[in-house]
Amino acid sequence: MSESLQTINNHYELAIIGCGPAGMSAALNAKIRNRDFIFLGSEFCSPKLSKAPQIDNWLGFPEISGKELRQRFLDHVKSRGIPIVPFKVTNIYPGPPYTLVSKDQSFEADAIVIATGVSVNKLFPGETELLGRGVGYCATCDGPLYKNKKVAIVSYNQEGEDEANYMADFCAKVYYVSNYDSDLSRLDPRIEVKKGTVKGIIGTEKVQQLDIGEEQLPVDGVFIIRDTLPAEQLISGLEMEDGAIKVNHKLETSMPGLFAAGDCTGQPFQLIKAAGEGGTAALQAVKYLDSLK
Ligand SMILES: Cc1cc2nc3c(=O)[nH]c(=O)nc-3n(C[C@H](O)[C@H](O)[C@H](O)COP(=O)(O)OP(=O)(O)OC[C@H]3O[C@@H](n4cnc5c(N)ncnc54)[C@H](O)[C@@H]3O)c2cc1C
Repeated sequence: MSESLQTINNHYELAIIGCGPAGMSAALNAKIRNRDFIFLGSEFCSPKLSKAPQIDNWLGFPEISGKELRQRFLDHVKSRGIPIVPFKVTNIYPGPPYTLVSKDQSFEADAIVIATGVSVNKLFPGETELLGRGVGYCATCDGPLYKNKKVAIVSYNQEGEDEANYMADFCAKVYYVSNYDSDLSRLDPRIEVKKGTVKGIIGTEKVQQLDIGEEQLPVDGVFIIRDTLPAEQLISGLEMEDGAIKVNHKLETSMPGLFAAGDCTGQPFQLIKAAGEGGTAALQAVKYLDSLK
């Protein structure tokens, strides 16, 4: 189901972001507690779980494949009547209530469980330094700022093709650097596809070039489309520790009403930890919501 077809209310008690084992476990527990919540995910939940060839450490199911376990998780969530709303969160503005933003919609939530996993892709040199000064994660959100300018889209999935096509309508030049298997036939012919590996983003005050090894592309903006956004870039000011969201044993983060669960809270990157933390985070969020009354 496409995000634009989904009716989203202006406000929920709880928003759960990410439809991997952590998010699904959080959603089940929120449902059992009968809370007013929305469960947000990507189009495919979860790429990581589906890639596990054989899982030996999931209690009760010896030697189950990631694909099968994923299907069982999804069936369980569906059987409880919990819709997974395809809504990629690009920003969270501080609260409570927090404002959750995607490329074309936004709404508020009193509490949030972040269960977005971790990105397997390292940040590029220059990415953090130039964030907000030409580097962004949602081209369609910032698009108008780049009218008649040159931009590059670096993408790890097909979502980047839609972003690039949108930008081609008003940018002077759009480069596309793909990091996934596709014939890119959906791309607008005005877009220049570049082969190469990103070595870094160059600029002093703002983005000036994208270094792709064999050449430096002269650009004003670089948009990076990954499956998972770095957590610290989802919401500014969130306390991190060793590259993960800092949580206590109640899965509370440094912000009130904001909980985190699963791989995004750090190692071990394991299913049982993700599912356990997801359930705990949802129950703690329910307690938090009760305390507001
Ligand atoms: C090849 C492989 C084999 C593995 N084998 C095992 C194993 O045998 N045993 C084991 O215990 N673990 C294994 N793991 C690890 C396990 O898959 C992870 O620990 C687990 O999937 C983490 O769950 P999660 O819910 O935290 O994150 P994920 O499963 O990564 O799910 C996060 C979800 O959130 C979505 N998302 C991210 N950002 C956003 C956003 N901004 N808005 C909306 N949605 C978003 C993502 O698209 C994704 O669907 C393996 C992993 C891999 C890659």
